[in-house]
Amino acid sequence: MEGLEPMHIAGSTEGLTRQQIELVELAATLGREKFAPRAARYDAEASFPFENYDDLRDAGLLKICVPAAYGGLGADFATYVMVAAEIGRHCGATALSYNMHVSSCMWSGFIADALHMTAQQRADHEAKRAVHYARIVGEGKVYSQPFSEGGAAAAGKAPFGTLARRVDGGYVVSGRKIFASLAGAAHCYGVLCTLDVPGATQRDSLYLVVPADAAGVKVVGDWDPLGMRGTVSRTLLFDGVFVPDDARLMPEGLYHQAALRYPHMFATLSPTYMGLAQAAYDFTVAYLRAEVPGMPKVLRRMYPTKQIAVAEMRVKLEQTRALFLQNARAARIDPDKDTRMRLYAAHYTIMENAQALAALAIRTCGGQSLLKSLPLERIYRDARCGSLMLPWTAELCLDRLGRECLYEPGEKDEAIE
Ligand SMILES: Cc1cc2nc3c(=O)[nH]c(=O)nc-3n(C[C@H](O)[C@H](O)[C@H](O)COP(=O)(O)OP(=O)(O)OC[C@H]3O[C@@H](n4cnc5c(N)ncnc54)[C@H](O)[C@@H]3O)c2cc1C
Repeated sequence: MEGLEPMHIAGSTEGLTRQQIELVELAATLGREKFAPRAARYDAEASFPFENYDDLRDAGLLKICVPAAYGGLGADFATYVMVAAEIGRHCGATALSYNMHVSSCMWSGFIADALHMTAQQRADHEAKRAVHYARIVGEGKVYSQPFSEGGAAAAGKAPFGTLARRVDGGYVVSGRKIFASLAGAAHCYGVLCTLDVPGATQRDSLYLVVPADAAGVKVVGDWDPLGMRGTVSRTLLFDGVFVPDDARLMPEGLYHQAALRYPHMFATLSPTYMGLAQAAYDFTVAYLRAEVPGMPKVLRRMYPTKQIAVAEMRVKLEQTRALFLQNARAARIDPDKDTRMRLYAAHYTIMENAQALAALAIRTCGGQSLLKSLPLERIYRDARCGSLMLPWTAELCLDRLGRECLYEPGEKDEAIE
């Protein structure tokens, strides 16, 4: 867009590290110059943004959260979420699918580093993750993260139904994953499953990498959703797929520890939607200033109703950004209860405000903004998807938050007579 200088996704660069400023600027340049112009095509075709991934690879951003010791950029949680939000500002589907790739590195990277492991588990983990990081850093491979199954597992309420049976030299994986972003596009699927042992519980979870071309892997079903169409989140079937021992992205059982002790690992879905919230605001400002490319030069900014509307949007955007940044800086192992509650509140707010801002933008800009030739209607449809994403849907955030507001750990109602 011409006219106003684009605002940094963090609001200002104050307090940011040199790496954060450089990487966010890199993402902004890629987003503005490459991703935004291609976004309408991926959306119309519901096709995967392969060209964007080539650009991410060339820019070094596929290795953003690979630890520096393994040749990656070693970015921390705050750095990653700001980069992801900047990408989401220009192409929601690219940012959301990129999150699945980066989470593989983050969960096996700085999150695993913070967990308790025996010395033997740690040594084993170092050896196994080196295999995966070499693929990403050296060969530019793309990973994804299918865990949803259409049951209670993805909400964190039951063991994963996808099973991994231990066999000589590895595992045999069988099961089905729905809404698997990057289905048919990723080189490797990072599958959450349950070790097939008698009486298995959530403690027996396992995080295994299944190569997309392994025998027994199938991508099935169509993909024609309302929004986030470029994620191509089709169904994956695993029919007795053998994977070797080095397929483990985390030692057996460690995913469960991570889910309990590092809740920010699930909050990486919201940066995409922070970016969409910013995009809805950016579009509205440009539209009212008659700066949207291809539109007649009709100014609308002088009407007091429009000024009030855009002011309301800016207030909501700043509220959202404040929680986004607070959340970004608070990521750590074993956060206290207040930090955990603020995290639910932040995630909920970002997901709900993204769609509220997109709706306000359409109301403010008016009928022409519904046209498919403009990005706003895509932003509106993409923004709708965030609060549906497990494990922390808007409903489940409220559910967890409400319970934690009223109960201390271990408290039961029978205790209060
Ligand atoms: C664009 C997009 C991309 C996605 N990409 C991925 C991906 O890459 N990997 C992946 O694993 N998943 C992905 N998902 C899936 C997503 O996280 C959800 O799993 C999926 O949207 C769930 O749909 P469902 O209808 O089966 O939900 P259901 O499980 O039927 O849940 C419906 C609603 O009920 C509530 N609910 C569910 N379980 C419980 C419970 N036990 N207690 C109380 N309330 C509950 C929740 O609020 C939920 O929104 C993606 C989703 C979208 C929209």
